[in-house]
Amino acid sequence: MIDVGVNLTNKRFDKDRFELLQRAQQVGIANILITGTNVKESHEAVALCQQYQQTLPNYLYSTAGVHPHDADHVAPHYLEQLTELARQPFVKAIGECGLDFNRNFSAPEQQKKVFSEQVSLAANLAMPLFLHQRDAFESWFDILKPYLDKVPAMVSHCFTGSKTELEQCLASDMYIGITGWLCDEHRGQALRDIVALIPLNRLLIETDAPYLTPRTIRPKPKSSRNEPSYLPYIVQEIASITGHSLEDIIAHTSENARRVFALC
Ligand SMILES: [Zn+2]
Repeated sequence: MIDVGVNLTNKRFDKDRFELLQRAQQVGIANILITGTNVKESHEAVALCQQYQQTLPNYLYSTAGVHPHDADHVAPHYLEQLTELARQPFVKAIGECGLDFNRNFSAPEQQKKVFSEQVSLAANLAMPLFLHQRDAFESWFDILKPYLDKVPAMVSHCFTGSKTELEQCLASDMYIGITGWLCDEHRGQALRDIVALIPLNRLLIETDAPYLTPRTIRPKPKSSRNEPSYLPYIVQEIASITGHSLEDIIAHTSENARRVFALC
């Protein structure tokens, strides 16, 4: 299994990051892609990859990008900073970038500007995009559309959209990242209704840890903190809804992740 979305720079992992990585290995997580959500965190993500390269060779990789929540706070030269980061061998995608009109922590126009610039950067660098979208599908898709055949791959990370939106993403050959959102019988119901529409060659799995702890974990963990070793609960839920075998889901999502992010 490959966990393509972990916020491993989060403070909540400071105490036991190495033990957490060992637990991940024990349950069969083959690789982890650390999500960068702004320039500073993208640097920290690369630093973690470097830090653990000796003990866990080629286990950690990362993305470099600016999350829409952070769009208001970019430095004037942030694109040069991202370009520099993208040259690091550990960095495998531009992102997490996108649009989030749900909470508008950054002004929508600035979100669009910073998103468009990163999409164009990914095309220039021939790197895949790791994408966030909430309540902004049309504007998001409009920005991506001219670049569909100009970047190696697009990943709609933590997909929580509608059936129409899913169909549009799939028709555009995007990859779909499924998180523990699926394991929530209340707010995840819309996703549970459509997850079977995702072909195995488009599917990716991610915990988005420390967020979105699967509600199907038994016994229930004491802490609300999610971690990569819970990824099997997401695979299990996909299997029970779609009827695909665990083996098929694991084989396909791993192969997809290796192809999309060019992991060795
Ligand atoms: Zn996100």
